[in-house]
Amino acid sequence: MKKAHKLSLLIYWLIYIVLIQNIDTITAGPNPVQLIHVEAHTGYSDKTNVESGYVAEPPINIDRNMHLHLEEFRNKVKELCNAYPHSIYSCLPASDNRIALTFDDGPDPHITPLVLDILEEYNTVATFFVIGENAQKYPEVVQRIVKSGHQLANHSWSHKRPTSITVYDLIDEVNKTQKVIEEKYACTKFFRPPYGLVTSEQMQQLKLDGYKVIVWSVDSMDWYTTSPQQIQKCVLDKVHPGAIILMHSAGGYHNRQATIQALPNIISELKKRGYQFVTLDQILNS
Ligand SMILES: [Zn+2]
Repeated sequence: MKKAHKLSLLIYWLIYIVLIQNIDTITAGPNPVQLIHVEAHTGYSDKTNVESGYVAEPPINIDRNMHLHLEEFRNKVKELCNAYPHSIYSCLPASDNRIALTFDDGPDPHITPLVLDILEEYNTVATFFVIGENAQKYPEVVQRIVKSGHQLANHSWSHKRPTSITVYDLIDEVNKTQKVIEEKYACTKFFRPPYGLVTSEQMQQLKLDGYKVIVWSVDSMDWYTTSPQQIQKCVLDKVHPGAIILMHSAGGYHNRQATIQALPNIISELKKRGYQFVTLDQILNS
């Protein structure tokens, strides 16, 4: 009897521990956001609280100027996300293992099809932020993106830095591209600013025009490094539930060869960790 009593106490204690470890949502700050207590099997176990406006610091060596630039970028994203909740996102408001792969700067006739081949091989969906003038130039690649079940989204007409142009010029860049996209793909308006930032005035206008501005929480740094290993590290060390991962499917001095080399390993490792890939409109439209 005594042994049975001890055993049942032990079972109650184990149940208590399991319950305690699964309490994972709280709210904080001026905008209630979900803080994520991440499960160990996702590989993200440092208990960092991921909230709206979060952008991870790259886990590789970068030069001092770039370090300062990225620090300022992270602060500005946080400010915009606090000021415009539900209009700008750096990560998905998800507490499970859903993540979004995003590819900027395409389409092109060389690299974008290779990215599409890899996504097809791994049965994975992604969001493509296309440059309007490229989309007009390569309609067959745009067609393939849509036919494969990926999301088409807006990355401006000619990739001008938004913070260097007027509100009017930015809206013109964005609307022109949206028109080309909507010929092929009916969707909510998702815009990613070239270089990641817009001014407050531009943000205000984008909101009025019904655009959702999408930044990222995990930067693969494939625009900075030509090492596939470093690209993998940037994604795999920093991925978290709800991550929006930035990669590129065109452009760059080395024509994104490193991205192409890193992508299969990134996808298979993320799948192994139990992540599920979604397009942005699967989450942010619902
Ligand atoms: Zn870009």
